[in-house]
Amino acid sequence: MANKTKLADSLTQKTILCVEDEASIRDMLRFSLEREGYRVEGAENRLEMSESISRQRPDLILMDWMLPDASGPQLVKELRSESYTRDIPIIMLTAKADEQDMIKGLDSGADDYVTKPVSLKSLNARIKALLRRAEAFNPDDSISYDRLNLNLASQTLSIDDMQISLGSTELKLLKFFMQSPERIFSRAQLLDHVWGQNNYLDERTVDVHILRLRKLLKPNAADHLIKTVRGSGYKFSV
Ligand code: CA
Repeated sequence: MANKTKLADSLTQKTILCVEDEASIRDMLRFSLEREGYRVEGAENRLEMSESISRQRPDLILMDWMLPDASGPQLVKELRSESYTRDIPIIMLTAKADEQDMIKGLDSGADDYVTKPVSLKSLNARIKALLRRAEAFNPDDSISYDRLNLNLASQTLSIDDMQISLGSTELKLLKFFMQSPERIFSRAQLLDHVWGQNNYLDERTVDVHILRLRKLLKPNAADHLIKTVRGSGYKFSV
């Protein structure tokens, strides 16, 4: 079915958000990154960036040094302060070859930088390296929300002082919810974020695992945290 093919394609693709106010540079980056197989979102300013991120969490962000309504380093700092966006790899784009500025960019929390005019070969290599690193490495050992504490190393969930063992899918699903509470996610978005790439799954898979997760939470009266939002999907909320 056309729908399934589209979903399967979207699961193998990484999304890069390009935050750049100069349309010609944005278009050039979009064109060449799409040719490399990435899905590319564009944003001209802070507002468009926030909107794009709440629609879909990108796998990597290219951040211009100076935007009309904010500075790149300032936005990087903000992204690093929120759990939902903290781990997204960020590459700073700077026209300034000045070393001080680059250092300031990296100080703000960017993972890497490239100078304009952008060498696509070098940019591609950096993107690939950061995406590989992001997949292999998760700096968080535990996440807390309400009465829940999720230990990622031991793959255990504690509610108050009770320990609960989780299967790997339930763990990933709960981790995703706990990292992004109060947001509504569609089944397709959950598939994309939790099941990741190279999967060919029906959206009902999500419902099955939500059901399992609620069952695991129920004895501790925490199943209500996963809310069904009619016609939209699911939300994690107190
Ligand atoms: Ca600019």
